[in-house]
Amino acid sequence: MNCKKVIHELTAYLDGVLDSEMRADLELHLSRCTDCRVVVDTTRKTIQIFCNSEPVPLPEDVRQRLHTALMDRFRRNAKTI
Ligand SMILES: [Zn+2]
Repeated sequence: MNCKKVIHELTAYLDGVLDSEMRADLELHLSRCTDCRVVVDTTRKTIQIFCNSEPVPLPEDVRQRLHTALMDRFRRNAKTI
C-alpha cells in the first residue's frame, strides 16, 4: 500500500465497503503516514458534514468530485515534497 493507493481506495474505505485485507493494509499505512492520516481525517469529516445535512448517502457525482479534488491535492503535494 502506498499513498496513491490509499487515496484511490479512500472513498471505499470510508464507506466501509473495502474488503478486510485491503482495509488492514490501508490502516497499516495510515499508522505510518501522517499525510494520509490527515487526508483521511479531513475526508471523513467532510463526509460527516454532508451526511448530517443530507439524510441520503453522498451522491455519486459529489463522491467523484471529492475524489478528483483529493487526487489533485495529492499530486500537488507529491510535487512539493
Ligand atoms: Zn501515505
